Amino acid sequence: MDEKLLERAEEFHGHMCGGLTIGLRTGLLAQKLFSEISFRNAEIIVTSKTSACPKDGLMVVLGVRPDNRTLEINPDLDCDYKFYDIIDEKTVKVFMKELPEGVTREQSAKFYREAEDEAIFRWEIIEE
Ligand SMILES: [Zn+2]
Repeated sequence: MDEKLLERAEEFHGHMCGGLTIGLRTGLLAQKLFSEISFRNAEIIVTSKTSACPKDGLMVVLGVRPDNRTLEINPDLDCDYKFYDIIDEKTVKVFMKELPEGVTREQSAKFYREAEDEAIFRWEIIEE
């Protein structure tokens, strides 16, 4: 992962942790699955199940924010993160996989920094 992005995220969040790294990776995955332009124009609504550390990573990567409703928190979400493209009516549901055996919580930031997307997440693309 890009060092500059990590530095920017740590400054924004106040510390480096596994959760923040998850948020960054989720944001980068979403950028890969959607066009960046859609995020800039607020054509995608991001819903996060957690309001904890990962949300800050999403904010840093995608520029989404709770105050303009591009980022919503919903503890009842049926996946960990959901991206809804208003224009193309495409939904991507992202689910976190379990940490691999032997990776402790303390090592998780490193794991989430280095692992392939497929090792961290599974995702479903729903076209309407
Ligand atoms: Zn944190």
